[in-house]
Amino acid sequence: MTDNEKLSQLLFEDVNVTPEELEQKYPQRNLPDGARVTRFAPSPTGFLHIGGLFASMVAKLTADTTGGAFYLRIEDTDKTREVEGGIKFIVDGFKAFDINFDEGMIGDSDWSGDFGPYIQSKRLDIYKVYAKDMVAKGNAYPCFITEEELEEIRKKQEEMGVRTGYYGNWAKWRDASLEDIKKELETGKKFVIRLYSTGNIENSFKMNDLIKGNVTLRENDMDTVLLKSDGFPTYHFAHPIDDHLMQVTHITRGDEWFASLPLHVELFKKFGFELPQYCHFAPLMKLENEGKSKRKLSKRKDPEADMQYYIAHGYPK
Ligand code: GLU
Repeated sequence: MTDNEKLSQLLFEDVNVTPEELEQKYPQRNLPDGARVTRFAPSPTGFLHIGGLFASMVAKLTADTTGGAFYLRIEDTDKTREVEGGIKFIVDGFKAFDINFDEGMIGDSDWSGDFGPYIQSKRLDIYKVYAKDMVAKGNAYPCFITEEELEEIRKKQEEMGVRTGYYGNWAKWRDASLEDIKKELETGKKFVIRLYSTGNIENSFKMNDLIKGNVTLRENDMDTVLLKSDGFPTYHFAHPIDDHLMQVTHITRGDEWFASLPLHVELFKKFGFELPQYCHFAPLMKLENEGKSKRKLSKRKDPEADMQYYIAHGYPK
C-alpha cells in the first residue's frame, strides 16, 4: 500500500466501494445516435430566475429534438442559501409553464428515473467514494488550514503582488507527510479535501464551447476545495461526478461558470471521465436609459427576474 492509499483508508475507512463498482449500479442509457442528455440543476433558494427558465427551455428542446433526455437535479449543498419548500417551489414553477422533465425531482424528496438520487444532499456517500479514490491516487489531499491562515496567505500574496489563492508553494498541506497528517487528525482538527492540482497557469489549451465557439483557456493550478469539512461537496466536485454518472452529454449553464472551466476540465481528466460538451449562456440583460445602456437582470433589483412575476401578472405561458 502506498502512503496515499493508507491515507485514503484512514480518512474514509467506512467507504468500501470503488468508483467502478458504483458505476455498475446505473444502466447505460439506451438512446439513438446523436441524442443529447441535458439537465437543469438549480439550488433551492426559493427563487426561479427567468434566465433559468430560458436555460431550461434550451436544454429541454435540445434533448427533445434529438431523442435524448432532460432531467431536474437539485443542487442543495449550500445549506446557508437554502429556503424551506424550495424544491417544491421549483417543481411547481416549471409545471406552471408546462415545462416537463423526463426524470429527476418531482416533489420535495421524491424523484423518478434510474440515476437518482437527483438531489445532491442525498448523494454524499457517492461523493465520498470518489474522494477516497482521488486521495488514494494522489489527486487530492486533506487540508487543515484555518480561515486566519488563509487570510495571512492572501495578505502576503497581495504585498508581493502575486496571484492570490491556494496553489503551488502556498498550499501548505499539499505535500504533507502521512505522519504529519496523522498527528493533525489526532487533534480532531477540522479539514477539507482539496484537489492536488498539476496544472500550470503558463500553459494554455483550446476548447469548443457550443455557444461561445473556440476559446483558449489557461490551465488551472488552484488546489480547490472538493469536499467541505461537513462532508458536503463543492459545486466543482459534484458537477463532474453527477453529470458523469447521469450520463449528461451537454452542460448548458450560466456564464458565471465559464471561469471555472479549466478546473472542471482538470477534474474530468483526473477522474478519467469523458468530457461533455459545454454551452455557456450569456446572462439576460436589462435595457436601461431608453436602450442606451444595459446591465445584468438582477434578482435583487428587478421583480421581473422572478418567474413568479409572470404568473402573478397573468402572462400567458
Ligand atoms: N447549481 C448551479 C447553479 O445554480 C448549477 C450550474 C450548472 O448548471 O451546472 O448555478
